[in-house]
Amino acid sequence: MRAITIAIDGHSSTGKSTVAKQLADYIGYVYVDSGAMYRGVTLFALKHGFITEGYFDKTALINALPEIKLSFVKNDTGKSELLLNGENVEKAIRTLEVSEFVSPVATVSEVRKKLVEQQQELGKGGGVVMDGRDIGTVVFPKADLKIFMTASAQIRAQRRHEELLKRGDKVTFDEVLENVEERDNIDSNRKDSPLRVAEDAIVIDNSEMNVEDQFQMILQLAKDRIAGRPLK
Ligand code: C5P
Repeated sequence: MRAITIAIDGHSSTGKSTVAKQLADYIGYVYVDSGAMYRGVTLFALKHGFITEGYFDKTALINALPEIKLSFVKNDTGKSELLLNGENVEKAIRTLEVSEFVSPVATVSEVRKKLVEQQQELGKGGGVVMDGRDIGTVVFPKADLKIFMTASAQIRAQRRHEELLKRGDKVTFDEVLENVEERDNIDSNRKDSPLRVAEDAIVIDNSEMNVEDQFQMILQLAKDRIAGRPLK
């Protein structure tokens, strides 16, 4: 079986990581959640006081970058979780606070350079499904299969809101909607590696799709690419 590279990019809260994980498990590939890495750097910046009441000390973060070590471990159920300097921060990086600051942090070119290098290293042998914002455009511009996922902002916020409530986070729908829209805006308009649909990406709007149908559709695309068949 060919070990190909699969890039899944798209807007915030489109369920990229759910389908990327499902696909990687099914075809026995490694899954890399690149957004978790940007979230890890953001958590580090928050913990070290580089982000306070509307002020973001980019220089302090850039100087501290060599101290940030990110890695992934598998938990008991096989799900991959982020370690920040050896500490499991999987839960801490999913809060609305981290979501609020992650897009500004992701505009910093020095941060991107460090993370892109690590992502390229993680995926260098192929056999990888990586999700993010610039995977098909910057990290793996020659990826064998590129998917770009989108859905209406209302639907994405609804799904994310339900997820956060289930985790016990007390957030309102409006706060989540505002965050989803704000992140899309910053991610699409930043100078370095803005969120774009790669020329050869297949766009999937999943506003009206259920998780299973979406998975089957992407699985078929992956099988076609692995077999070397042209995409329809
Ligand atoms: O995928 P997730 O929503 O967890 O990503 C969090 C944030 O990290 C995004 O809103 C974006 O600002 C940033 N990101 C990025 N490039 C990636 C992955 C994530 O800029 N490849």
